[in-house]
Amino acid sequence: MRYELCAPMSDNKKVQSIEDLISSLGGNAGDDESAQQKFSEKQGEINKKEMERLTRQKAAGKGIPYVDLAGFAVSPDALSIIDEQEAIKLSAVCFYYDGQKIRVGSTDPENSEVKDLLDKLKEKYHCQGTLYLISENSLNFALKLYKNISKKYEEVKGVKVTEEELDKYSGRFSSFKDLQEQINKAELTEMVSMILAAAIKSNASDIHIEGEEKSIKIRFRVDGILHDSAVLDKEAWKKLISRMKMLAGVKINISDRPQDGRVSIYLKSERIDIRASFLPTSYGESVVMRLLRSSAVGFAFEELGIRGQSFKQLEREILRPNGMIITTGPTGSGKTTTLYAVLKKLNKHETKIITIEDPIEYQMEGVNQSQTSDKYTFAQGLRSIVRQDPDIILVGEIRDLETAEIAIQAALTGHLVLSTLHTNDAAGTVPRFLSMGTKPFLLAPSLNAIIGQRLVRKICDNCKQEVKISPEIMDRIKESLGKLPLEEKKAIADKMLDLKFYQGKGCQKCQGIGYRGRIGIYEIMIMNSEIEKIILSGSVSEYDMRAVAVKNGMVTMAQDGLIKALEGITSVDEVFRVAK
Ligand SMILES: [Zn+2]
Repeated sequence: MRYELCAPMSDNKKVQSIEDLISSLGGNAGDDESAQQKFSEKQGEINKKEMERLTRQKAAGKGIPYVDLAGFAVSPDALSIIDEQEAIKLSAVCFYYDGQKIRVGSTDPENSEVKDLLDKLKEKYHCQGTLYLISENSLNFALKLYKNISKKYEEVKGVKVTEEELDKYSGRFSSFKDLQEQINKAELTEMVSMILAAAIKSNASDIHIEGEEKSIKIRFRVDGILHDSAVLDKEAWKKLISRMKMLAGVKINISDRPQDGRVSIYLKSERIDIRASFLPTSYGESVVMRLLRSSAVGFAFEELGIRGQSFKQLEREILRPNGMIITTGPTGSGKTTTLYAVLKKLNKHETKIITIEDPIEYQMEGVNQSQTSDKYTFAQGLRSIVRQDPDIILVGEIRDLETAEIAIQAALTGHLVLSTLHTNDAAGTVPRFLSMGTKPFLLAPSLNAIIGQRLVRKICDNCKQEVKISPEIMDRIKESLGKLPLEEKKAIADKMLDLKFYQGKGCQKCQGIGYRGRIGIYEIMIMNSEIEKIILSGSVSEYDMRAVAVKNGMVTMAQDGLIKALEGITSVDEVFRVAK
């Protein structure tokens, strides 16, 4: 069991004896009354300390975490998770909640009703949950705090978007294209919920609302591509943006500088975290809302779409106890998803995994996830993580020499390090590390594998049809596939005789787009002595790296994409859109 949170011990000294106490009162019998009062005050303190000591001992004996809540600042957000009546009835209070973890303290954590309550909360908030043993004194302290949460708390938080409201609107949408018609008829007060309902229903990852000269444009990003959804009258803008600011918890009266806010929507089946960013532009403020859905728990390693030899080689590399696995690609190319699929495969009881990320995109039970901040950078975080004796470390991104050096050091000293690097492809990784100032003789032995990747949209199964390819494009395809390693060529030999490709026509199921969902296309560079030798030479170009990797049998992203197009998973257009 991991004890992640402990209130400071109020006193490390031994409990004072009555004799000590009396002598500390001065032993002067002349002022009996005040001595008596001081005595009973002190006695009360001693009882409390003794109570905490016993509670702590009891918790240790049962293997349950313990916390002393007296003097602990419990946020209204946390406290209000369990309502007052239930807290009194079950002697249980929620004393910590950060959107990812819920911690409940109870004087009787083994009570099945308390356990049921925690299970319910875990499900409702899509959080990890921990039960703590607390003393009677802690409980009373926390129960008193309920007085401070005014009944108005919910209202103070401003606009709320509820499941009922979203349900009401989402029934009216079959696609984001229906938003225009609906929103024209809507009251201003309904608009925010309606936009969110349409976005959730159409599986959008981002909502863009931009002021233009005469109107306001609403666009949704679906599977990585922005689609126009609706145009609004400019008159509505001021009020609409005020409501969105209230929802996101930012200052309504500020419109001349950028602001960031966030809010979570709790649905029965999932939690949706919304990060809203407000930016002043020449036509008024623009808003971008990113929807992070807790139900998007990610893929299994086997389902990422990594094929053939690459899959076998990469699987071998991630099962090694040390070294670095790096994923590369631009923002939004699915790097984190890949690393989490790897983590999912490696996440076992006997393995300690710690992450440092910005932001935390997926929740994973059994993994210690931490978030960077101004005072907790990737480098600082990584330094303290290494001291926590982990087996596997995930660093969200390596973008400076300090982080790179600690990561390499960790990889060389018995840790498996997973991270991402912002380069175009696998071949660019080593030159990028070296340009940061990394030492070649440390980098070469620390790398296990480099994954270059992009996401392509998958053709909608419901409206897939064969498509004619122009002769020029067909030549490009043949040239690319012709350079495949022998083994890969053999695997698709029958398809090569009659090259067929597909696209989606557009139907109800795919909102008329022709695509639904995305899959990765990959190139995987596995380290070997030849590549190491090149790194050790110290001056390495992307060109050299690519040449040696291909010579060693690397299938490029474009080739992997074209094979997926041949298999009817994606289209040739998609492959050439993302990989040249
Ligand atoms: Zn379709």
